Amino acid sequence: MPDLRTVVLIVAAGQGKRFGSDLPKQYCPLAGATVLHHTVRAFVEHPEIDGVKLVIAEGYDEEVEASLTGLPREKFLGTITGGETRQVSVRRGLESLSSLAPELVLIHDGARPFPSSETTSAIIGALLDNIELDGACAALPVHDTLRRVLPDQRGMETVSREGLWRAQTPQGFRYRPILAAHQMVSRTDYTDDVAVAEAARLKTRLIEDKPTNIKITTPEDLKIAQSFLASTSPAAAAQPTGGATRVGMGYDVHRFEAGRPLFLCGFEVPGAPRGLKGHSDADVALHALTDAILGAIGEGDIGQHFPPSDDQWKDAPSSLFLEAARKRVTELGGRILNIDLTIICETPKIGPHRDAMRKRVAELLEVSEGGINIKATTTEGLGFTGREEGIAAQAVATLWLPDDAGEST
Ligand code: MG
Repeated sequence: MPDLRTVVLIVAAGQGKRFGSDLPKQYCPLAGATVLHHTVRAFVEHPEIDGVKLVIAEGYDEEVEASLTGLPREKFLGTITGGETRQVSVRRGLESLSSLAPELVLIHDGARPFPSSETTSAIIGALLDNIELDGACAALPVHDTLRRVLPDQRGMETVSREGLWRAQTPQGFRYRPILAAHQMVSRTDYTDDVAVAEAARLKTRLIEDKPTNIKITTPEDLKIAQSFLASTSPAAAAQPTGGATRVGMGYDVHRFEAGRPLFLCGFEVPGAPRGLKGHSDADVALHALTDAILGAIGEGDIGQHFPPSDDQWKDAPSSLFLEAARKRVTELGGRILNIDLTIICETPKIGPHRDAMRKRVAELLEVSEGGINIKATTTEGLGFTGREEGIAAQAVATLWLPDDAGEST
């Protein structure tokens, strides 16, 4: 593992379902993705962040996978299961980073989808520039007049807002001291990590944050988040209502050839006596799938993009073709929703390899495995597949594309 200087721990283990919805708020839909998707995106796209780890509750693997759809995975350090309180979740997250031992760790709430890139940089800068500083916390000055309601209907009193700030996240720390602080405090009711740091007498400071770094707590917050996205990224915000669902199909056949490895769905079938004949690795399933995706975006077929006459594709892994089609969907601002693929052959048996194939296609397309279906059939001994002369594959791809897809590219 390369040296990671700054890692973000995103705390998304809360199971608060305050919307009357079935989903914890970090998994609620926001502009065609989830709240957590936007949160993770902000950090994986930040040039000073080297790694991102998620603390999640048990049983939400599918929601997490869906939240990561369409995001680059290079910086993703995986997930860890949290605990019964936020404080326990953060401690477990910090402990899970011990073998990486980053210099700095930023701790951020999963339900804050718009952390400011400038604030993140300012927190990192404050820690790198001030050797005596242990922590730096995003915060907003309080501008409203504050009142405290007195008990027993005795009225209320005005509280001075002088010197009052609202603590936000991210909160950044040197890794070793904040890990030690979390492991030594005996109370379990600290509501943020600066409070834990203070209890361990660490030196922290506030960094003025942007007011757009809202925490999603109510359905109204989601509407505010939606309109914020509409003002900054119209294509993303249009997704739930605008745009269109597009369908494409693909079909391909390759003949068996002895002396070659057999690739299906980007997976080398172990012990296969024959492979398939073709200019590339002849992965018939990925060819059908690539054609289905190109079909859905109206961009011709695989032969136009990767001509067999071009020597650079000789023996090329067909995953290259599929990834190129996926990137084209991303460039258009679209998302792959689901894939249905049928492999038609007498041999090999697909069943034993189906899970591995599904996993590989999900990886290549950056879609959750739930969105990938792989089926297999024989043709009852009839036709060329029945005579075991080759393998055929059919695929259907369903995509979402924004209304203006292609206009700006
Ligand atoms: Mg082909």
